[in-house]
Amino acid sequence: MIKTVKTVDLKGKRVIMRVDFNVPMKDGVVQDGTRITAAIPTIKYILAQGAKTLTLMSHLGDPAKDAEKAKAKAEKDGKTFDLDKYIKGKHRMAPVADYLQKKLGKAGTVVFAGEDSCYNKKDFIDAQKPGTVIMLENTRFHKEETAKDANELDKLAKALAEYGDIFVNDAFGTAHRDHASTASIAKFAPVSVAGFLMEKEVNYLEPIVTNPVKPLVAIIGGAKVSSKIAVLESLLKNASALIIGGGMSYTFLKAQGKKIGKSLVEDDQLDTALKILDAAKKAGVEIVLPVDHIGAEKFDPASKPVVVAAGNISDKLMGMDVGPKTLELYKKVLVKAKTIVWNGPVGVFEFDAFAKGTEEVAKLVAEATSRGGITVVGGGDSVAAVNKFGLASKMSHVSTGGGASLELLEGKRLPGIEVTRCRDYFIAGNWKMHMTRAESVVLAKAVVKSLKNGKHRYLVAPSFTNLYDVGEVIKGTNILLGAQNCAAEEQGAHTGEVSVLQLKDLGVAVIILGHSERRHTYKENDALINKKLKLALAHGFEVILCVGETLEEREKGKAEAVCKHQTEKGLEGVSVNELAKVTIAYEPVWAIGTGKTATPEDAQNIHKFVRGTIEKLYGVHAAKQIVIQYGGSVKPDNAAQLMAMEDIDGALVGGASLKAELFAPIAKFS
Ligand code: ADP
Ligand code: MG
Repeated sequence: MIKTVKTVDLKGKRVIMRVDFNVPMKDGVVQDGTRITAAIPTIKYILAQGAKTLTLMSHLGDPAKDAEKAKAKAEKDGKTFDLDKYIKGKHRMAPVADYLQKKLGKAGTVVFAGEDSCYNKKDFIDAQKPGTVIMLENTRFHKEETAKDANELDKLAKALAEYGDIFVNDAFGTAHRDHASTASIAKFAPVSVAGFLMEKEVNYLEPIVTNPVKPLVAIIGGAKVSSKIAVLESLLKNASALIIGGGMSYTFLKAQGKKIGKSLVEDDQLDTALKILDAAKKAGVEIVLPVDHIGAEKFDPASKPVVVAAGNISDKLMGMDVGPKTLELYKKVLVKAKTIVWNGPVGVFEFDAFAKGTEEVAKLVAEATSRGGITVVGGGDSVAAVNKFGLASKMSHVSTGGGASLELLEGKRLPGIEVTRCRDYFIAGNWKMHMTRAESVVLAKAVVKSLKNGKHRYLVAPSFTNLYDVGEVIKGTNILLGAQNCAAEEQGAHTGEVSVLQLKDLGVAVIILGHSERRHTYKENDALINKKLKLALAHGFEVILCVGETLEEREKGKAEAVCKHQTEKGLEGVSVNELAKVTIAYEPVWAIGTGKTATPEDAQNIHKFVRGTIEKLYGVHAAKQIVIQYGGSVKPDNAAQLMAMEDIDGALVGGASLKAELFAPIAKFS
């Protein structure tokens, strides 16, 4: 969960905010102010709350790199190059400050902090009248902004952090950059929160990868397969259908043995294309490739469009757009979708003769919005296309960040977002081997009713045999469906086992692995648990990894060593991005059913230790965010006390989850 500017008291506070004012500039004039306008709601809100000062910082182009390129070009063309004039026209922030002042009008006064530096502006800021907006010069004039070395990054980050009591990040378009003003600053700022633009982007884009309203249909187009592999793989986990169009579709068609003529192709990606097709088949995701095309002899706006009705394209032609039969197919697939994500045009939409396919897709997506679907468009060119056709307002969300939205859809963690995140409580009920189907339905209904207004994340994990019925009851509610185990193999001759594919088919979202009963009664070792965990993550599940020491281990003083070992081994080979889908549950195995109890302080100590283990493995941001549930005997009367502990972020509840009147007060502790 990201923490927003709404959760902090701004009155009388100095705010330092990162915005993405990286707008196109020509001769010192803003050419398109969309990005500036997009930050205005957050700016207005902060001023209206009575902040003392609001200092804004942004990059604008890349002065060093851009100038080098422009200089080389001028030299090549035999022209003189005036560096100062060039920088002034393209990279200075003063005209951006003026533009902002015009947009803000009476809502606030904007002052520019000076061309000289972003350093040493504290006195300048403190001298401003209350309610002033201060615009700093382009952060990228300082090489520390984009440095690889952490000490360099920290030098600028620390200086910037001094301008605020609160750091707000509203720069979604730069959220994928690990820079001084986007991420490192959070190490020094007392509080880091997200602005409204960032919040909206995350709220639309993130669920597509984590928990979309299904069916999800993805439309992926654009020029190159190579730039979209990661997003294709990521979407396979949740999508029911994947529409692959545009230039990249020809690599897929060629891989399938079709003739593609002179169409754009990446011969080094043919294997990748086959692998993706194979993975889709295994995951039961329908792949929709073009079945007809609009071809042209040349890549030229004036080239005559030729309809290629059959799948094969002759040697004289290149595919420039999808044909009418393909659009019919798209329509059939898209009408079934409750969520649509679109990244990449399906044709060369910049040329009017080849824009029809992309325009029709835009219309179909717009229709889905009016039917109540969630429609999200990301990617620089797709957004340009939607704007060109005047349909941007007909989409639920049009992303302001090309690279950032693509990386979010790939399931990556973006540094600029991560620094604004806080942990959400997660309460899970493990129903173990109890109840008939009918009984579990009764319990599920009672849990749904009692947690209706619950503010945290919830999960119930019934027996395999009851998953379907419970799933039907909790569908569309705030409760997730969990499984208590899975097989280490995808399918095959494994008598008595249940596979991740079968669990996915049942709508399971989370799999509990390494539970103490699995470890001790059924002798599951770390290697097996790790294998299951990686398989579950690869199929898009969240995982709750249980760790914890036995009485004997505890008495020998080995509690920490055991937890460390189980955490490390359980997570072996798991990337920091995948870790976002892992919750750890600490089970004091020694306390369960022995009459011994862990005090909240005991529990806190070991949770803190486990978080430290994660920090060593994955760094401070990942450690701050991982949810660690307590799996001891949590009851209504000790829940609030346990949850109040700094490092206890929820509970994995056994016995007490079998009665709604016990589970609800735990889940809704206060
Ligand atoms: P986005 O910015 O939305 O992520 P991409 O950058 O991946 O999209 O791709 C956009 C480009 O793909 C556009 O410039 C478009 O002209 C090009 N494109 C689409 N279809 C074709 C095609 N059939 N042949 C060549 N280029 C294409
Ligand atoms: Mg692009």
